Amino acid sequence: MTDFPDRVIAGTPLEEDQEVERSLRPPTLEEFIGQEHIKENLRVFMSAAKQRKEPLDHVLLKGPPGLGKTTLAYIIAAEMQAPIRITSGPAIERPGDLAAILTNLEPNTVLFIDEIHRLSRPVEEILYPAMEDFRLDIVIGKGPAAHSIRLALTPFTVVGATTRAGLLTGPLRDRFGIIHTFDFYDVESLVAIVQRSARILGVPVDGDGALEIARRSRGTPRVANRLLRRTRDFCQHLGKDTITREVAEYALEKLEIDGIGLDRLDRSVLATIIEKFDGGPVGLDTLAASVGEDVGTIEEVCEPFLLQAGLLKRTPRGRMVTRRAFEALGLETPTSGLFSDQDL
Ligand code: ADP
Repeated sequence: MTDFPDRVIAGTPLEEDQEVERSLRPPTLEEFIGQEHIKENLRVFMSAAKQRKEPLDHVLLKGPPGLGKTTLAYIIAAEMQAPIRITSGPAIERPGDLAAILTNLEPNTVLFIDEIHRLSRPVEEILYPAMEDFRLDIVIGKGPAAHSIRLALTPFTVVGATTRAGLLTGPLRDRFGIIHTFDFYDVESLVAIVQRSARILGVPVDGDGALEIARRSRGTPRVANRLLRRTRDFCQHLGKDTITREVAEYALEKLEIDGIGLDRLDRSVLATIIEKFDGGPVGLDTLAASVGEDVGTIEEVCEPFLLQAGLLKRTPRGRMVTRRAFEALGLETPTSGLFSDQDL
C-alpha cells in the first residue's frame, strides 16, 4: 500500500488517462511540441530511410515517464507509413512469445517495446540477431538431440522506450542505431501543449491560466494534460467558463501542488531527508521505507524531477537535499555543517 494513491502529478499513466491520452496524442512530428533536437534528427533519418526504401534503423528513447516516448513511436510509424505493434518488456515473458511476435510482423513494422529494460535475458538473446540481421535462431529439443534452426524475418524497426537506461545491457544498447534522451519540457512548450489539449477538449483557458498549469507540471506533458483536466473540473465547480490564473491557482492549491509543481510525495521525500536524516546522505531503500512509497516510484518518477530542479542530489553515499530544498519547503537553511563549500 502506498500513502500517496493516484498522485495527480505522477508521470506514469493513471487509469483515467488512457482513453483521453489517445485523443491528445499529436499525430505528426509537426504537431509534436518541443524536443527540437530529437525531431530534427529523426526527420533526417526517416527521410533518408524512406529514400532508400528501407525500414528505419532501431530507435531507443530514454527518459522519465510521460515525456512522449510512446507518442513518438506512433509518429515514427505514421511518418514511415508503417504498421505499429505495441508490446512491453514484462509482457514478453518467454523467448517463444517474442518469436511469435517477430514471425508475424508485416514488412517494415514498428515494433514498440515499452520498458525494454525489463526484458528477460533469454528473450534478449533472441532479440539480438533479430535486430541485427533479421534472423531468428531457435533451439529445438533438449540435450544431445538439441539443434538450432534459423528463420529469416521480414525487416522491421524496434522502437524501445526506457525510464531506466542504466539497466539496459550493453549488447542490447549496441543494437540501436539511433538513441535519444528526452529532456523535461520548458514552460513555453508546456504552455503550447496545454493550449493544444484545451482546444481538443473544448476547454476555454486564457494565457495566464495555461501558464499557471504549465509552471506546475514538472516539465511533463502527461502531468500538464492531467492538471488541465482537473482544473477544468474546479472551473466548472466554481461556475466559471474560462480557466484563468485565479481558477488555476485555486485548483492547484486544492490538489496540494505548490508553485513549482511539487506535490505531497515530493515534499515528503525532501522533508524526510531533512528531518529524519539531517539532510542526507541516505540510501534509496531507507528513504523509500521512511516515506512509505515504493522504491521504483521514488527513483523513476519523483527523483528525476527533484534532481533536475536542483532540489536533490545523488552522491556515492546516498541522496542529499540541496539548499534550494530548504527554500522550497519554506525552511530556514542551516548555516553550517550540511553544505560543503562547493554548494555555497
Ligand atoms: P511516455 O511514453 O514517455 O510515458 P506518452 O507518449 O504516453 O509518454 O505521453 C503522455 C501524454 O503526453 C500523451 O498522451 C500526449 O498527449 C502528451 N504528450 C507527450 N509529448 C507531447 C508533445 N511533445 N506534444 C504534445 N503532447 C505530448
